[in-house]
Amino acid sequence: MAVETPREKLKIIIVGAGICGLACGAALREHADVTILESVAEIKELGAAVHLAPNAHRLIQGWGGDLYQYGAVPNRNVKEYTKDGHVKYSIPVDTKSEFGVEWVLCHRVDVQAELYRLATRSDGPGAPCKVLLNSRVVACDPVEGKVTLKDGTVMTADAIIGADGIRSAVRAAVNPTFSSSPSSHSAYRFLVPMEKIKQHPDLVELGVTESLTMIDGIDRRIIAELNEISEEKWSAKGDRDALLKSFESFLPVHQKLLSQAEEIGLWQLRDQEPLNQWAKGRTIIVGDSAHAMLPHQGQGAAAAIEDAEALGHVFRSATSPDQVPDLLQRVFRLRYRRATMVQQASRAAGLGDMMKKASGFEGGELPKEFSNMMKFRQFNMAYLGADDWEKNHAEWVLPEEAVKDGVLVG
Ligand SMILES: Cc1cc2nc3c(=O)[nH]c(=O)nc-3n(C[C@H](O)[C@H](O)[C@H](O)COP(=O)(O)OP(=O)(O)OC[C@H]3O[C@@H](n4cnc5c(N)ncnc54)[C@H](O)[C@@H]3O)c2cc1C
Repeated sequence: MAVETPREKLKIIIVGAGICGLACGAALREHADVTILESVAEIKELGAAVHLAPNAHRLIQGWGGDLYQYGAVPNRNVKEYTKDGHVKYSIPVDTKSEFGVEWVLCHRVDVQAELYRLATRSDGPGAPCKVLLNSRVVACDPVEGKVTLKDGTVMTADAIIGADGIRSAVRAAVNPTFSSSPSSHSAYRFLVPMEKIKQHPDLVELGVTESLTMIDGIDRRIIAELNEISEEKWSAKGDRDALLKSFESFLPVHQKLLSQAEEIGLWQLRDQEPLNQWAKGRTIIVGDSAHAMLPHQGQGAAAAIEDAEALGHVFRSATSPDQVPDLLQRVFRLRYRRATMVQQASRAAGLGDMMKKASGFEGGELPKEFSNMMKFRQFNMAYLGADDWEKNHAEWVLPEEAVKDGVLVG
């Protein structure tokens, strides 16, 4: 009887250890030897809150993740005020009953810590990912599957996953047509210790201790999310006076909420056209590198986590390095329409008039139900993962003939 030689594991390099890169590690470690290259010396997510709707939370739980151990809080209510203090809506939330999984409000640092644990724990499936810090990729040969680090080291793999964010070096090699522009929106982000809020009954009354709360001006808004952990360091600082000046037309109670901020970060929000190519040869871009989006649907990290799970799903059937280019094209076809829809709906929610010019989304105009997070919830939250998407939502998967030489045609 012939004895089958166990096949050698594929080698995969992931560039970037942000939310997407670490999620890719968690998803792929079972099917390959994975090395994650990260440019910074210490893994440290910047930012404040991130909310993970059931579509993303379900996938993290599928890898054995537990965000509650860090103090993630299930979202129980979404409330929106006008800047004059009138309640526009207050909607009770129970996504566990509706979609089987909680919609969780988290600290970004914790999401990253949990994904790091899932990618590197010794008792996980396959082998733990190797994470190499201080390893900035400066060049990539996508066809050969080769990356060059800043110190001149050249590394090769059967597949390269570019999860290196909106300024991606890998994308420059896969699809140099990328351009992004300032959206004219910026975001201040900061944490306020809950004890501070609780000292002010008028702030408690706003509801920020129990729900996802939004206070909407015409061209600016405050979004407050609840989380139980409140330690944070910022590397890019914002300015408190500028923050308060920006919101001076809001009610005193809203300004009081803002004035509790201890350390303030300031983000420029950039707008990006959908890209017509994510994969080339042995290389693919995912997460913000492929489809950075405005934060107005709160789905950028979720889409990055969905990409990671799709890679895990597709690489489950990999038996030889020769298959890699086709597998990566399959990931592109599987993910393009959904990620682009979320990207465009985020634009529509953020920039309003983009509803009318939803480029990259076939069909031209975005359906009205995609204009805000609450209306969009069914599409977002009912997502069960790539296997279900491929089998049961074929209309959302690009047909093979829609992609020629890796580029979306038409
Ligand atoms: C204001 C704001 C609010 C948001 N709120 C939400 C929310 O509530 N819910 C949600 O789902 N999403 C939210 N998002 C979106 C979400 O933050 C991003 O989509 C997500 O973090 C993208 O993750 P990423 O890993 O693709 O990219 P990044 O987080 O940018 O990670 C990229 C990683 O790659 C590393 N890197 C970069 N270049 C190189 C290189 N050349 N070599 C090696 N390493 C490299 C970086 O150091 C970094 O660690 C929000 C975004 C903003 C701006």
